[in-house]
Amino acid sequence: MRIITQTCPQCGTIVSANELESTRVMKCPGLSCENVLRFEDLPREDREFFLDHADEYEL
Ligand SMILES: [Zn+2]
Repeated sequence: MRIITQTCPQCGTIVSANELESTRVMKCPGLSCENVLRFEDLPREDREFFLDHADEYEL
């Protein structure tokens, strides 16, 4: 299974796409980081791949 992640550009914390997809917008979980991460910020091909395979990502 391909793992899709987004890296926070401010602190480097890695967030998985399924966390982002479930909330769409989330505050970065990094310590003392106020950056906001959005599912829409993922590259289009990553979003499409994730949505096509969303059932495989459910834990
Ligand atoms: Zn961050």
